[in-house]
Amino acid sequence: MGQGLSCASASHDHDFFAAVQGGDLGAVESSLTANPYILSRTTIYDRLSALHIAAANGRVEVLSAILDRSVDPDVVNRSKQTPLMLAAMHGKLACVQKLLEAEANILMFDSLNRRTCLHHAAYFGRSDCLRVILSSAQTAPISDSWGFARFVNVRDGNGATPLHLAARQRQADCVHILLDNGALVSSIAGGYGYLGSTPLHLAARNGSLDCIRELLAWGADRLQRDSSGRIPYLVALKRGHQACAALLNPSAAEPLVWPAPLKFISELDPDAKALLEAALMEANREREKKLLKATSCSLPSPTHSDTDADENTTEGSDIELCDICFDQVCTIEVQECGHKMCAHCMLALCCHNNKQNPMNLCISSPTCPFCRSSIIRLVVAKTKAKDKEDKDAISKLSRSKRHRNLSEGSSSYKGLSSAIESSAKTSCAAGCLPDSNVNVDKPLDI
Ligand SMILES: [Zn+2]
Ligand SMILES: [Zn+2]
Repeated sequence: MGQGLSCASASHDHDFFAAVQGGDLGAVESSLTANPYILSRTTIYDRLSALHIAAANGRVEVLSAILDRSVDPDVVNRSKQTPLMLAAMHGKLACVQKLLEAEANILMFDSLNRRTCLHHAAYFGRSDCLRVILSSAQTAPISDSWGFARFVNVRDGNGATPLHLAARQRQADCVHILLDNGALVSSIAGGYGYLGSTPLHLAARNGSLDCIRELLAWGADRLQRDSSGRIPYLVALKRGHQACAALLNPSAAEPLVWPAPLKFISELDPDAKALLEAALMEANREREKKLLKATSCSLPSPTHSDTDADENTTEGSDIELCDICFDQVCTIEVQECGHKMCAHCMLALCCHNNKQNPMNLCISSPTCPFCRSSIIRLVVAKTKAKDKEDKDAISKLSRSKRHRNLSEGSSSYKGLSSAIESSAKTSCAAGCLPDSNVNVDKPLDI
């Protein structure tokens, strides 16, 4: 008799969980009305609750219906994993958002590797989930007790931060987002991977050129050794990742590093920042091409898709070229003075890791190369384009230029860096250069 009852109840549970998994809201609602206590049931082996199943399968309507019945959003399964962890693991963005709205705790640790939802999102490359968890961490109560920076660098049971996991798993997007949110680029993982590994060691080991490029651009140290005394270069060589080794070789030219002064400019405009980041990565790709050519490694070439048709659209349009390099379109405007230049030149101006010319180090706060006033803010330059056509032409010009640089391997960047150096030298020599000497706003004939 008792056995019969438990069989019936097991079959009810099964039907209910199947409805949750399939996202059948009607069936879920009627089960809940018939037996509200079914919400406390779990699957037999993993002890998954209905909330776990809905989260892992991205059933946001079912998830909401369950949350509306004031179920604890942080209920855990056999491995102490929360529904938020499962949603992050499986990349179910809507469910992650819903759980965060229900104030799910982002600082829970599972019992497998003592990982948080941030670790899981980074490991599986769920960059959109990673982003929303980080943005929620800015305001969540944990930010008071733990601090945001500490959360971004939270360690799992083996000492790995989310950045270590993303670098190891070749998740370049997540590597980028984490670095952008203050992940420590050279932190040492305790027992994760090989002892004393940095994210750069882990990326080298798995041969992720994209992750290596990101890490180097954020200042990862090519000379840092792991516990067995190996630098990332040796790790890449040993694993047969020739292209990665070429970038990691300490005797190879140093990549451009996201300049420290830019971090301190108040309210770095998101659009301006995106332009600068794109310019930095582009410049580093240029360097890579040369390095790889020298070591006869080849990278997959960029796709030659939409450029040829654009080539002739630039003629006659009213486009401002950068007065420093005379090559790229002015995209960045310096405030307060209003001078304009291209993103590449702005970047080179702020990159203080140029060891060839220590006299040009302007570490404290970058100044405008035209008027020497200190830079308060960078914004995207307003173009002089009068209508949409011109704007299209500008974006096409920058795209086709970029493509040309990539496909021909031109050394325009090198040219402009030296142009900047000399321009900075003249400015420095002349002290405070009056504004009128260099009229950037004057339209150029092209
Ligand atoms: Zn320029
Ligand atoms: Zn200026």
